[in-house]
Amino acid sequence: MTPRPWNVFQLANDPVSYGEDAGRYIITASEGDKEVCGVIYDEADAMLVAAAPELLEACKDIRALLDQEGGFDCICGNSQRCSICCLEAAIAKAEGR
Ligand SMILES: [Zn+2]
Repeated sequence: MTPRPWNVFQLANDPVSYGEDAGRYIITASEGDKEVCGVIYDEADAMLVAAAPELLEACKDIRALLDQEGGFDCICGNSQRCSICCLEAAIAKAEGR
C-alpha cells in the first residue's frame, strides 16, 4: 500500500490543462509526488478515499482491542448484519480478501 497520509488534491479549474477533469479531485501521497487515485468527481468521495488508510488501521485497532477484551462474537449468525461482521467484512474488502 502506498504510504500514508493520502491527501485530496483539487486540480486547477483550467480546462485547457485538464479538459473535463478541471476542478476535479485526485488522491496523492508523498506530499503530492505520488498519485494514488485518478479523478474523483465528488469531493466527499475523495475525502473518504483519502481517509482509507487511517480507517483501515482504526478498524484493525478496534478488532485487536475486541480480541484483547476476550473477543465479541457475531450476533447475526454470520449474515453480515451485525457490527462485528461489518467490521470484519470492511477489513477483508480493504485487504482484497
Ligand atoms: Zn454478524
